[in-house]
Amino acid sequence: MLWNDEFETLPREAVESLQLKRLRQVVERVYATVPFYRRSFEAAGVTPAQIRSLDDLRRLPFTLKADMRDNYPYGLFAVPLEQIVRIHASSGTTGKPTVVGYTRRDIDNWSELMARSFAAAGVHRGDVIHNAYGYGLFTGGLGAHYGAERIGASVIPMSGGQTKKQLMIMQDFGSTVLTCTPSYCLFLAEAAREEGLDIREFKLRVGIHGAEPWSEQLRAEIEEKLNIKAIDVYGLSEILGPGVAIECIEAQCGLHIWEDHFLPEIIDPETGVSLPHGEQGELVITTLTKEGIPLIRYRTRDITRILPEPCACGRTHLRLERMSGRSDDMLIIRGVNVFPSQIESVLFRIEGVEPHYQLLVDREDNLDTLEVQVEVNEATFSDEIKQLQGLSGKIRKDIKELLGVTCNVKLVEPKTIARSEGKAKRVIDRRKERGG
Ligand SMILES: [Zn+2]
Repeated sequence: MLWNDEFETLPREAVESLQLKRLRQVVERVYATVPFYRRSFEAAGVTPAQIRSLDDLRRLPFTLKADMRDNYPYGLFAVPLEQIVRIHASSGTTGKPTVVGYTRRDIDNWSELMARSFAAAGVHRGDVIHNAYGYGLFTGGLGAHYGAERIGASVIPMSGGQTKKQLMIMQDFGSTVLTCTPSYCLFLAEAAREEGLDIREFKLRVGIHGAEPWSEQLRAEIEEKLNIKAIDVYGLSEILGPGVAIECIEAQCGLHIWEDHFLPEIIDPETGVSLPHGEQGELVITTLTKEGIPLIRYRTRDITRILPEPCACGRTHLRLERMSGRSDDMLIIRGVNVFPSQIESVLFRIEGVEPHYQLLVDREDNLDTLEVQVEVNEATFSDEIKQLQGLSGKIRKDIKELLGVTCNVKLVEPKTIARSEGKAKRVIDRRKERGG
């Protein structure tokens, strides 16, 4: 279902001419109002007047997360604070958070894009949206909330936590749509089973899940356990929050990025060189309409590819392949690059294994080691030692064959691995703790 027929189906030529017009405007604006951009453009030897085509985008310097930290808290804002009506922040692994500010029009655009995203997921007026994304500095809760109100659905502002209460409300209030991280969705399913509730019999129809990379296998697991359609949504606070891109329910194949507001590129994360459509690399986004904190060529660190083929749903906006991970999360084990989501896909194809796992990376005698801890189900765990050894051997062999990485596998009892109410912590890298 389309929310904004005109913009969602704009012919490609019109999309691109709108992008160019808006790109030139935003480049002029940041050059005039943000000292950081004036300096970085000058250092790159480029002026706003030189941006005459979309290809000229490549002449502009990148913006990094570190640039946001260096200009903490308001240094990258392009309007005076009096025009900012909302401030969000995302916590990093260390130190100060990354701060973003929204003007009234930014909030309006965000609501529009989240409304489009809900509509693309088949959500409409009359739906009861159970919003279990965290409310607060994190953009997930309020971002989804405003979009839900915009389409006229009934939104329940649950936020995260209080799992038993979540289940009670979901059942009693007849929630039809669930918004939360994929790992929390599974946790809810597990908690329901423990409470003796059949979550498959709830009124839930659609789940909208994002804020962490997940695999196609985890999608299948969620769809089966909750009896819903699970839709992948993408966003990051630096660019907007949720609602930057979403899968359409018609195709469930790649996430449409709302190109009248965002200009996506894929680059080689090592060299920074732009890659053609279809090639995998790091996603870089330029915001075209943001007023509070417009970003030019922001390096998201998310790894994906642009799928340029037209989509069956009729939307003309390009699709991004499901994120395979963040370049920050990419593990290098004895020189082999591997994403946690790739290990996840291997695990979930194996019978008897539960969708809960953790990766322990360490270094012994100057060699990287990887231990995959994975839960097995009750039935498997009570099997004989010999069968368990067979299972861990199979996992080790599959990971080696498919990903080229040697690992140890440790099968653990059901519910041993800590559950998360927000983003799951999949990797413990002791090499970092040891400072190398
Ligand atoms: Zn589509």
